[in-house]
Amino acid sequence: MHKVGVLALQGASRAHAEALSALGAHPVEVRTPDDLAGIDGLVLPGGESTTISKLLELSGLFEPVAERLAAGMPVLGTCAGLILLASEVLDGRPDQRCFAVLDVAVRRNGFGRQVDSFETDLDVDGLPGAAFPAVFIRAPVVERVGEGVEVLASVDGKPVLCRQGAVLAAAFHPELSGDLRLHQFFLANHRFLEG
Ligand code: GLN
Repeated sequence: MHKVGVLALQGASRAHAEALSALGAHPVEVRTPDDLAGIDGLVLPGGESTTISKLLELSGLFEPVAERLAAGMPVLGTCAGLILLASEVLDGRPDQRCFAVLDVAVRRNGFGRQVDSFETDLDVDGLPGAAFPAVFIRAPVVERVGEGVEVLASVDGKPVLCRQGAVLAAAFHPELSGDLRLHQFFLANHRFLEG
């Protein structure tokens, strides 16, 4: 069974782990550098990107995760996770760090504050079946997309699901809608459901 790490420093890690188990992968909570041993992929959950950035440094995880990502480890980032993967963060804290493996500029809270949270049905390129129910909570807005980035879904012309090589990043929370197809898409793209 393929081991997929779920960064569990802060934020919504449990629902991701449950989705991965339900699909037949083996989720591993990642809190220390040792937890990275043996994982084939990683999920960066939603939460507060400023806090997660700080905790990544305090736990000593920032550099080893950055190295694995640079080496091509598949990663799914959602909401704050997308911000952590981006190459440019707007409206961030000055000391906030990101892994810069997704060539986008992203504005924190670009969809508004907590009261502006919303749910909408998304047409996702490559996802068969019905529209995907997407939950947006203080979601970031992708304001610039680099050449190598595919936009797989948008809301009002704003990219909300992007892929660049082994990086898949959503501005929304696919783990909160009870629809496992996006996690399945991630796992299947990297053959994590085989053997
Ligand atoms: N606004 C948060 C941030 O900037 C992200 C919100 C979320 O992950 N639901 O990190």
